[in-house]
Parts: sequence; structure tokens; C-alpha cells
Amino acid sequence: MPDHMTPEQRHRCMSRIRGKDTKPEMLVRRWLWSQGYRYRLHVKSLPGRPDVVLRKLRTVIFVNGCFWHGHESCRGFRLPETNEEFWRSKIDANRRRDARNATLLRRMGWHVFTVWECQLTPDSRRHTLLSLSRRLSALLLASCARPTRYSLPDDETACAAEP
Ligand SMILES: [Zn+2]
Repeated sequence: MPDHMTPEQRHRCMSRIRGKDTKPEMLVRRWLWSQGYRYRLHVKSLPGRPDVVLRKLRTVIFVNGCFWHGHESCRGFRLPETNEEFWRSKIDANRRRDARNATLLRRMGWHVFTVWECQLTPDSRRHTLLSLSRRLSALLLASCARPTRYSLPDDETACAAEP
């Protein structure tokens, strides 16, 4: 892919892609909400500040952009030709950080799910969201069978209401 942007333009463009309330994340949130799941968002007290936290299911969901999080063997992930080394080291660092956070969370007893941006294209969205629901239902059944109490500080993030 030829890169026609100056480094500065690219940086601005990339910054816009990043961050809270990105579109793929909204798709997942709206879906979960419509399925009756209630969750917290961007919980700072957990490693990696997971996008969605389903406390009762002891489950966190990361909705990852394929570029920033370096989705391997994905067509959405291609390093820009300009400053390739810069981007490679940056994205490698992001990957390592993601892996570290997932390990920490699992050690703390959380289920960690990752949904990739490329799994939410109009063609694959339905399949992805249905399979996410199935995995959550399985956890829900398991948690009903074996009730446990979990706690998070209440002042963290308010329970979200979607428009
Ligand atoms: Zn991808």
C-alpha cells in the first residue's frame, strides 16, 4: 500500500482511529446491551483497561483495532511503508503489552475475550457476535451452577446506558 501521507498527517489519522468509543467497540456494546448484558466500560483498575467488563461473568472483552494491536495474519494489518521500523516497534510493543495484560487478567481469574475489528465487518459481524453470545451464555450457565460473588470498587465506572 503506497503511503501518501506525511508522518504528521498519518499520526493525526491514526490518533483518530484509536481511543474510546470507536465504532467496532460500539457494535459489540450495542449487541451485548440488546442481549440483556450489563457492563462497565474502560475499567481503569484492571490491567489493560478492558473495553467491556462483565463483572458477574468475571469476563472482560477487548475490542481491538487490527492495526494498533497488530492482528497477525490479518488483511487489516499492514505496516505503512513510510517509517516502517517506527511502526513495527510501536506495534510490537502494543502486542507485548496486550499479551502481558491478558496474562495478568487470567491470573486474577478473569475470562479474557478479544474481538478484532476485522471480525466485525458487515459480512462477518453476525457470526462473531453470535459466537460471543454463545460463549457468554456458557459462562452464565456455569456461574448459575456455582454462584460466586465478585466485587469491584463502586466508584470506578458507572454502569453504562446506551442510547
Ligand atoms: Zn484483523
